[in-house]
Amino acid sequence: MEKDTIVISKGYDPLKYNGAVKPPIFLTSTYKFKSAEEGESFIRVALGLDKGEGGFVYSRFSNPNFDIVEERLSLLEGAKSAAVFCSGMAAITSTLLAFVKNGDYIFYTNPLYGGTEFLFKEFFEKMGVSTLHVNAGSESPKLMESMINSYKGKLKGKSVILYIETPANPNNVMVDLGAIVKIRDKLIKEGINAKVFVDNTFMGPIFQSPLEQKVDIVLYSATKFIGGHSDVIAGAVLGSEEDISKIKGIRGMIGTNGNPFDSWLMARSLETVHIRMQRQMENAKKIAEFLSKHPKVDRVIYPELYDKKSEQYRIYKKQCKGPGSLMSFYIKGGKKEAFKFLNNIKLCKLAVSLGGTESLIEHPKAMTHSEVDENTLKDAEITDNMIRLSVGIENYQDIINDLKSALDKI
Ligand SMILES: *Cc1c(COP(=O)(O)O)cnc(C)c1O
Repeated sequence: MEKDTIVISKGYDPLKYNGAVKPPIFLTSTYKFKSAEEGESFIRVALGLDKGEGGFVYSRFSNPNFDIVEERLSLLEGAKSAAVFCSGMAAITSTLLAFVKNGDYIFYTNPLYGGTEFLFKEFFEKMGVSTLHVNAGSESPKLMESMINSYKGKLKGKSVILYIETPANPNNVMVDLGAIVKIRDKLIKEGINAKVFVDNTFMGPIFQSPLEQKVDIVLYSATKFIGGHSDVIAGAVLGSEEDISKIKGIRGMIGTNGNPFDSWLMARSLETVHIRMQRQMENAKKIAEFLSKHPKVDRVIYPELYDKKSEQYRIYKKQCKGPGSLMSFYIKGGKKEAFKFLNNIKLCKLAVSLGGTESLIEHPKAMTHSEVDENTLKDAEITDNMIRLSVGIENYQDIINDLKSALDKI
């Protein structure tokens, strides 16, 4: 079956629940066992002490609403297994906690989502995990390999995570995942325990499938395109059964699980993720085209507008199935002009976050990336006149009219 069919029909059987075509919300914290023996065995499986089918025990470990969205998401992503969380940050933290300990290494591409960068520096560094970065872009694999080589003597017996966010936010720079996977394979051959993690929030699950490139783990802020309506904070992780079972062990231990209602919202939203992201992308193409021709706009960064001869365009064509619906653009002028433009926007919402049905517009330097240091801002070209736009599913002409009238006010 095709993915747009899978998300509607899989993961839930109405005949198990009085024929209810849509899943009920399982507002229960605990589950009745058929026998003491069953209780004993379910608990051993839930805690990872035994392998096997298992069953529901307690909603910090599992709940039918988690299972429905986890199955749908796995099928959509081509993963063996998935786990849902109460936020994207909970997903990222729990996953890292499952694989790194004091003395281990995280090599990552910069910029990352601000919260992730903060987590690395304020939490994992203090735990004794080294977090080291190279700039995101065409050169990332080469830079990362030479950085890793300079640490080689220290990596024996350690866990090494190669943590990638592509495209990068907000400059839409891409990293070649196939080339990063080759670095991992070399490390494994040398007896180093390496894994590749990819934050796929921007393009997934429709326009980019990192597991096809043989990465180990895909991470999501499901708050964005998967939730898709700016009404839920949630996260998800996908990968092999073995890895996800380890991650679920941490989730159950520290309680970073999702809740039944948010999981229900996610399963419901997945039914339309395909048509939402498709429509958002079609709108974005037209809007990028409009902005690129506007005399008050200096430059638009959007994958379809990459220089066709560039390495970035080659990576884009190789690993993405479409350009997505996020773009950044530079207004002619500085902060004053950028703020004047934003203050005259009427239809698009002046707000952080992205991936919702409504268009969201913001000023990265003053808002989403305000904690980022000067050098990183410079490297990523996050300047006073940069605007980020997450295109929604409104009629594209109305969005263009809104942007046009605000540009005219500058
Ligand atoms: C929003 C976001 C996160 C954090 O997710 P929350 O759901 O806000 O916790 C992580 N990575 C990326 C790329 C994001 O956009």
